[in-house]
Amino acid sequence: MRTVILAIAVILVAILAYVLYWREAPAPEPMETPEAPAAPAAPEPTIGLIDDARIVNADSEPGNWLAHGRTYDEQRFSPLTSINRENVGELGLQWYRDLGTNRGQEATPIIVDGTMFIASTWSRVHAFDAVTGEEVWSYDPQVPRAWSRWACCDVVNRGVAVYGGRVYIGALDGRLIALDAATGALVWEVDTLIDRERPYTITGAPRAARGKVFIGNGGAEYGVRGYVTAYDAETGEQAWRFFTVPGDPSLPFEHPEMELAADTWKGGEWWEIGGGGTVWNSIVYDPDFNQVYLGVGNGAPWTRAIRSPGGGDNLFLAAIVAVDADTGVMNWYYQTTPGDNWDYTAVQDIALAEMEVDGEMRKVLMQAPKNGFFYVIDRGSGDLLRAHPFATITWATHVDMETGRPVENPEVDYSEKPQWILPGPIGAHNWQAMSVDVEAGLVYIPAQDNPLIYGMSQEWQETGVYKHNPGAWNLGIEFGRISQLLIENAADQPAAKGYLKAFDPLTGESAWTVELPHYWNGGVLGTAGGLVFQGDAQGMLIARDKATGEELWRFNAQVSMMAPPVTYQIDGVQYVSILTGTGGGELFAGETNTVSLTHGNLGRLLTFALGGTEELPPPTAVDRSIPEQQLADVGDAELAQGERLYNSYCAVCHGVLGRSGGAIPDLRLMTPEIHAIFDQIVLEGTLAANGMAAFDDVLAPEDSGRIHAFVRARAHEDREVALGNQDIPRLTWLQ
Ligand code: CA
Repeated sequence: MRTVILAIAVILVAILAYVLYWREAPAPEPMETPEAPAAPAAPEPTIGLIDDARIVNADSEPGNWLAHGRTYDEQRFSPLTSINRENVGELGLQWYRDLGTNRGQEATPIIVDGTMFIASTWSRVHAFDAVTGEEVWSYDPQVPRAWSRWACCDVVNRGVAVYGGRVYIGALDGRLIALDAATGALVWEVDTLIDRERPYTITGAPRAARGKVFIGNGGAEYGVRGYVTAYDAETGEQAWRFFTVPGDPSLPFEHPEMELAADTWKGGEWWEIGGGGTVWNSIVYDPDFNQVYLGVGNGAPWTRAIRSPGGGDNLFLAAIVAVDADTGVMNWYYQTTPGDNWDYTAVQDIALAEMEVDGEMRKVLMQAPKNGFFYVIDRGSGDLLRAHPFATITWATHVDMETGRPVENPEVDYSEKPQWILPGPIGAHNWQAMSVDVEAGLVYIPAQDNPLIYGMSQEWQETGVYKHNPGAWNLGIEFGRISQLLIENAADQPAAKGYLKAFDPLTGESAWTVELPHYWNGGVLGTAGGLVFQGDAQGMLIARDKATGEELWRFNAQVSMMAPPVTYQIDGVQYVSILTGTGGGELFAGETNTVSLTHGNLGRLLTFALGGTEELPPPTAVDRSIPEQQLADVGDAELAQGERLYNSYCAVCHGVLGRSGGAIPDLRLMTPEIHAIFDQIVLEGTLAANGMAAFDDVLAPEDSGRIHAFVRARAHEDREVALGNQDIPRLTWLQ
């Protein structure tokens, strides 16, 4: 039973979605490489004076890592060769810095002229001397800690943009902040939110180009409406805003594209929940066409039967939208998952390249979104060129290349009964970066097979009405009883697996595939030194031969990783850097087998060089013994209610079945002192300074008591098993 529950927990993590539809649009004219925007009038910065031309020509200064994906192409493939197949065995830790947190780390470091800029938890920014690791400055935007309640996947941040002498950070609470790159001093900040009462968050890295900074947001699971805003990089003045889904139909359209989109939403009251379509990760500037690609997220709620009961594709959910960088006017779009029903976001990294396709050189973009198909799309026209599966897919059989639409598999329709579906909501690929090796014609993808059992919400099934709950996730699938669904259907559950794949986007074949010990691993860096670097869930930073996948070097970081490595070179010395600490969208899965569970989820910045001899302190074992419990005197019915409440309000962070993955406190380990103030914590926000907000707007005192009883019962069961009592009756309230 324990194995089953553990396996179930692994799968549960998932929660996101997408489908596809393609539409012809006039092709914009290719542009010359843009000139740099006018030099800023602000005082001359001493470091980091970056403009468009410098990023476009990033290959002329391969020692820097100037932008999120290194260049505007976002290929994350470095031309550096000092570290290579022959000598990577001599790579060693050069320096490391503790970041003072055990929450998740997702950021890509940016390295400019000897300074490294990173974003960490709570949207904090650090600047380090890239050679010595000495901190130059740090900045804390003082995000209100209770805001973490609206972060589906922890208080992570995927990085800063450095541009025109400024460092830009999107703060969790929706602010976009400009700092002086040399000093970290605040230059300006703007509120990007259209409604601060809505549960918006920002975890994505801003992108900067054409004198503007582009930023989106997250929050679709809770219920928001997605959009992207461009701000003047110097002043913070708003330049344009593009909404990704239509709003309240009783109000005017904000821009003409919303009229087009509104025709594809039918029935329902999606605007009450928000509709979704958040652009929480990928926003890529293309200097060839002066356009910006927006990777659009899943629907809110997930289920189309509730969101748009009359059918329709629900534009621009799960689509890549190309908009003019100067005006925000749409040039074309391609919808990967029309009528998204599975949390299949198309927010995953978008990489730009020129490649020969069917005998013709094409300017293409590539994306491996959650839905499991790898897309190659013409950047000028939006024409779909390829859509091969890169992981196990059961929701669709294939993409019809004539229509550009996926062909859904009716056998896994979950409108009538729960169904295991691959990919699940954490996707066949999530935000963890891929690396594009144009010369080899391969993309190195951190892929996974991770199913979820999707079933319509019991409330909707019984009443035909779905009520928006502003204080919780609004998915439309059954979530409160998710443990029960998992257990009832455990026999049919596909295994969760993780891979690193060298994938050919034109043929759909993999040159090599490495199966990893766990499914939730880190982003990928490829180099001209013939190497592919990736950190994994077991705490290993591994370098492989990019031609074969053969492991050439590994370093035990002692902490699970999900962030992408980067590389840079200063004074002839090449470095590799990575952040450690897992979490993110995997929090819900809880106690899966990662090293962060056993050694703690220490947030660190590690930097390696050939001959590096620095050593990490010996890891300490986390005491995960569960204290003896004072069980509440309640029956199974109340425990079942407690579990349902726990799944609805707590499990997304604290983990399914009361088991945490290490980044967030495990409630089974609570001390008697914490038990004594459980209600105050839940209802009054006693620990709000740690990010545990008050829930008294949605939970009554008796609800808190039921959750508490459930947590104690779960702790008791797991304690008994740990003590060797395998035969105790378990999860009786689910029977
Ligand atoms: Ca989502």
